[in-house]
Amino acid sequence: MDNQTVMTGVFGYPVGQSMSPDMHNAAFQTRGLNYAYAAFPIAPGQLQEAVSGIRALGFKGVNVTIPHKVEIMRYLDEIDDEARQIGAVNTVVNRDGVLIGYNTDGQGFVRSLLEETQVNVAGKRVLILGAGGAARAVAVSLARNGAKQISIANRSQDKAIELAGQVRIHTDAEAIRLDQVDVQLLKGIDLLVNTTSIGMYPAIDGMPISSEALHSGLLVSDLIYNPLETRLLREARQIGASTHNGVGMFIHQGALSFQLWTGYDAPLDVMRRTVLERLRNKT
Ligand code: NAP
Repeated sequence: MDNQTVMTGVFGYPVGQSMSPDMHNAAFQTRGLNYAYAAFPIAPGQLQEAVSGIRALGFKGVNVTIPHKVEIMRYLDEIDDEARQIGAVNTVVNRDGVLIGYNTDGQGFVRSLLEETQVNVAGKRVLILGAGGAARAVAVSLARNGAKQISIANRSQDKAIELAGQVRIHTDAEAIRLDQVDVQLLKGIDLLVNTTSIGMYPAIDGMPISSEALHSGLLVSDLIYNPLETRLLREARQIGASTHNGVGMFIHQGALSFQLWTGYDAPLDVMRRTVLERLRNKT
C-alpha cells in the first residue's frame, strides 16, 4: 500500500470470517493493480455514516453483506435495475462521488452454473428451496436470464408467495409448499437450487427435502460452500444427478464486483484457489 492505493472493502457485521479480503487482494495483485480490500465491521446504526465515509475517503467501492444489504439502498444515489428488483445491494461503486448500488449475487450464480456445468438457465424449469436473501437474488437473475418456469418452496409460505409475485413479471412463477416437493413434482424440474441454510456446517446432516424425491435427470445446486459437498449434493450425486456447489457463486459475485470497480476481467482461477485454500484450512 502507498499514497496512491485505491481502497475497497466489505461492510458487514460481523465480517471477521469473510473470505473476500483474501480473494480480492489476490486478484488485485495478479492483475498488478494498486488496489487494497479490507473488512470493515459496521455496527447496526452506523451504516449511514459508513456510507458517507466511502465518499469522504474516496473509496472506489465496497461489498455489502449481512445485515446491511437492504438498508444501504437508502443512502445511495442510484440503484441498478437488477439490484432494485432483488431488493438488496451487495456492491457499491463510487463514480466520482456518485454512489451506485448493484447486486452481483444472482448473476454470480448464473455465471458459475454456466462455467462449471455448461448449463444455460434459459428455458429451464427451476425449483428454488428457500425464499430468503440469496433466494431473491437467484430467482430474479434466473428469471431475467430466461428460465422458463420458477417454483419457490419455503418454510414460511408468505415469503415464497411474495417472491413468486416479484419474478412473475419475467416468467411463469409459483409458490408451493415444502411438503409438496416430491418425486412427481421434481420430474417436471430441470434445476433444483437449495438456498436454505439446511445442511450448512456444523449441522451437516440436514436435508432440505427427502432424498426419495431426487432423480438422475436433475441438476442439483446448493448455495452452501461449507461443506463443499452438502448431504443434498452427495445424495444427488450418488443417484446419478449432476451437482453444483456454492463456491462458484461466491467467486463470480466477487469477480463481477472486481470488474465494476476496476474495469478489468477478474482472475477467476486465482480467486478460486484462494477461496478453496481458506475453506480447506477451516475444516
Ligand atoms: P436468509 O435470508 O436468512 O434465508 C434463509 C432461508 O433458509 C429462508 O428461506 C429460511 O426459511 C430457510 N431456512 C433456514 N432454516 C430452515 C429450517 N430449519 N427449515 C426450513 N427452512 C429453513 O439467508 P440467505 O442470506 O438467503 O442465505 C441462505 C444460504 O445461502 C446460506 O447457507 C448461505 O451461506 C448461502 N449463501 C451462499 C452464497 C454464495 O455465494 N454461495 C451467497 C449468499 C448466501 P424461512 O423464510 O421460513 O425462515
